[in-house]
Amino acid sequence: MTTIPHFVHGQRLSAEGTLPVFNPATGEVSAHVPVPASAFVDEVVDGARRAWQTWRLSTLSQRTNILFTFRQLLVAHADELAALITAEHGKTLADAHGEIARGLENVEYACGLTEHLKGGFSSQVADGVDVHSMRESLGVVVEITPFNFPIMVPLWMTANALATGNVVILKPSERDPSVSVRLGELLTEAGLPAGVFTVLQGNAATVTQLLEHPGIDAISFVGSTPVARYVYETGTTHGKRVQALGGAKNHMVVLGDADLDVAADAAINAGFGSAGERCMAISVVVCVGDVADALIDKIATRIDALNVGPGDDPTSDFGPVISAEHRDRIVSYVTNAPGEGISVVRDGTDLVARDGFFVGPCLLDGVRPGTAAYDNEIFGPVLGVARVDSYDEAVALINANPFGNGTAIFTRDGNAARRFSRDVTVGMIGINVPIPVPVASYSFGGWKNSLFGHAHIYGPEGFAFYTRAKVITTRWPQPSESQIDLGFPRTR
Ligand code: NAD
Repeated sequence: MTTIPHFVHGQRLSAEGTLPVFNPATGEVSAHVPVPASAFVDEVVDGARRAWQTWRLSTLSQRTNILFTFRQLLVAHADELAALITAEHGKTLADAHGEIARGLENVEYACGLTEHLKGGFSSQVADGVDVHSMRESLGVVVEITPFNFPIMVPLWMTANALATGNVVILKPSERDPSVSVRLGELLTEAGLPAGVFTVLQGNAATVTQLLEHPGIDAISFVGSTPVARYVYETGTTHGKRVQALGGAKNHMVVLGDADLDVAADAAINAGFGSAGERCMAISVVVCVGDVADALIDKIATRIDALNVGPGDDPTSDFGPVISAEHRDRIVSYVTNAPGEGISVVRDGTDLVARDGFFVGPCLLDGVRPGTAAYDNEIFGPVLGVARVDSYDEAVALINANPFGNGTAIFTRDGNAARRFSRDVTVGMIGINVPIPVPVASYSFGGWKNSLFGHAHIYGPEGFAFYTRAKVITTRWPQPSESQIDLGFPRTR
């Protein structure tokens, strides 16, 4: 049986694998992944700190060259990377290519590092005095990533962390860890010096050791809300800069004037793509006024045409979910729904009889606060419909929800859409766009329980998060000038 290695000092490093990695399409164990001993984690952190002493002094053009080459290598190896993702995550190959493409955007953004790292300069702020600012790297950055985007989320972080002169230790999800090792190899092939990017496999205990480790300067985390909160609290208690992105419950509001075919297509794509295992997936369609019955009919008809199967079968619209436990949890929300007054319009739970971790598309009518299907992030192919009487009620529902990652509105009324974008307490908003993941030159992040810490991830906020500022005030006195002045420095 294969063991997935760490990637340390520019090469694969084998260790005894103890955690099983599954092929979700068959339900079989495909490999094992190691959990490092605490002494090994210390060694890795020491090695990373040593590597930073050199990497922090690398020139901007050196970093740019490496990132450009890395970008080309990702493109050249896209088929191979997508196959690795599909084999361990289960998503379709097309979807795996989609996440590679979105990750690439971040590498391309980081290639502009000479522009993004420009400081400011003010001449003659006082007589003979100039001021300039610059930003420097933090040191060793730890990246802790979730299973659902095994390449895109590491690229969200890695591209900008390396561009800014930091050294990276990536602790990928133990459920689909193989593609991270290939990222390390491709970075090395692109010219990244050994030790600047490490993949440390492991589990929750590994994360805790890193959060408390004095050799770590910053933590970028993406995952579920309870773990995000824990990572933020523990990391900051130990003096680290932390950004921790958590879970979501994303609402899509459909107003009475919307094109219901467009809205139904969007609900299907955003509700069931990647088996609903996206933090920006639509989980609740909020029907305002009397659109519900007609929209439910259109969504249900489209569900009947969906094909669920292995990710490497090109006819599959979506694949299995990540594990048997997760499948059973998803199914329980559907099975328990009628007891909470929710009607099950489409029930895909019969697919659990297949080998692998499959759940078919499910549509629930009547989800509302106080029901399990509404109160929890299901993270599966289950779309809920909530019925409200007015726009104000729709906004109140969204704003009362503890999550604030993404939301969308479907309407032809520009004024209502503009008002919506200002009314909701949510970080990313789509107007007739169901999955509004910002492009790489903006930053990604939710509000409320979807983000702990103030820094959104990637884009300009990513560059700010991975650097700290210095401001230098300079005076070159004339040789004959008197140097004695005990007063506080003044500009006027
Ligand atoms: P998870 O929280 O279970 O795991 C994320 C990472 O944390 C993994 O590397 C895991 O090893 C580690 N971890 C797990 N439990 C831990 C613990 N108790 N202590 C310390 N570390 C621990 O998340 P997941 O199931 O892999 O991913 C799905 C979740 O991620 C969903 O909630 C989804 O909404 C969220 N997510 C959020 C975003 C976003 O940008 N906000 C993006 C993708 C996924």
